[in-house]
Amino acid sequence: MPTADILPTHTPALFHSAVLQAAQLLRSGRIAAIPSETVYGLAANAFSPEAVAAIYRAKGRPPGNPLIVHVATAAMARECASEWPVLAERLAGHFWPGPLTLVVPRSSRIPDIVAAGGRTVGLRWPSHAFFQSVIKECGFPLAAPSANPSDQLSPTTAEHVIAGLGERIPLIVDAGACAVGIESTVVDVTGHHPRVLRPGIISAEQIAEAAGVSVNGSGSHGEGPLRSPGQLSRHYSPKARLEVWSWQDDEALAAMLERQAFAPERIFVLAHSRVPRDLPLAQISFIPDDPEAFARALYGYLHDCDHRGAALVVIESLPPGSAWDGVRDRLQRAAAPAVQRPQ
Ligand code: AMP
Ligand code: MG
Repeated sequence: MPTADILPTHTPALFHSAVLQAAQLLRSGRIAAIPSETVYGLAANAFSPEAVAAIYRAKGRPPGNPLIVHVATAAMARECASEWPVLAERLAGHFWPGPLTLVVPRSSRIPDIVAAGGRTVGLRWPSHAFFQSVIKECGFPLAAPSANPSDQLSPTTAEHVIAGLGERIPLIVDAGACAVGIESTVVDVTGHHPRVLRPGIISAEQIAEAAGVSVNGSGSHGEGPLRSPGQLSRHYSPKARLEVWSWQDDEALAAMLERQAFAPERIFVLAHSRVPRDLPLAQISFIPDDPEAFARALYGYLHDCDHRGAALVVIESLPPGSAWDGVRDRLQRAAAPAVQRPQ
């Protein structure tokens, strides 16, 4: 049984009461799991190093991994930044509120623990009405990583948060499934060109267009102080082994599966175009051939596979194109061999 209070939000009165309770807890220096449009977040007062330390403890998060700071006005964003680059202005103007995090030089109001000791801070203005209301009620920005134990899948429903952290945190606010479903696109705007540190549903192409300059290659495998587990090769992984494959037809897939040492009743397949018809597996699922729908469904699907004891999850390779980069990145990291798992 979870020890967290779980608050629904499906009527205006419940929504309002949950905003007040979450804000009261956050003002007293505690943490709360709240919904955003990307994934559920585990929030604390971003200006309080003690409150933020509680996030790291509850998640078991390594200290070298910086947190994203969530704001609800442009003025609040500027309070967190020591300078506001022209690229930040353009991209915020275009994509905020929404699933885009801007990495800018941090102001003295942002404690070391939030920035993992670096000189920058990742800022985001979420579009989710509940998240915005809590920030406004608090009057301070909220540091929030995904609301899951470190190294497990991100939560896209309150049930996922309850399963992962229900006994470790005081409050979980339930606003149903997240609309985006994968973490925000993270873009470093401290240089002359934007640099994508973590792909997301907002693509590099869209960023280049809004910024008016080309985007520098992904920082996924870069070196230096910005490197963090969100950028490491294995992350966002289910407990089951995950493989991303292409196949011509049922026979070819069956032959590939036979080479694996897994019982068919513990194999799950997720396909978007070559959906197998006749293979005797635990489950064969169809997912729409659309990056936004795919992102929305992906973590829920992987959580479900884990819950049902999957040993092997096979996902059909994605189509090409930068619109798929966010989903492709999560699948690549989720499928990376466990030996590369960061400590
Ligand atoms: P999470 O909130 O768990 O999705 O993780 C936040 C991720 O955002 C980190 O793992 C980094 O990839 C990225 N991030 C946050 N702040 C910064 C920063 N100051 N510099 C670079 N990346 C950041
Ligand atoms: Mg996370």
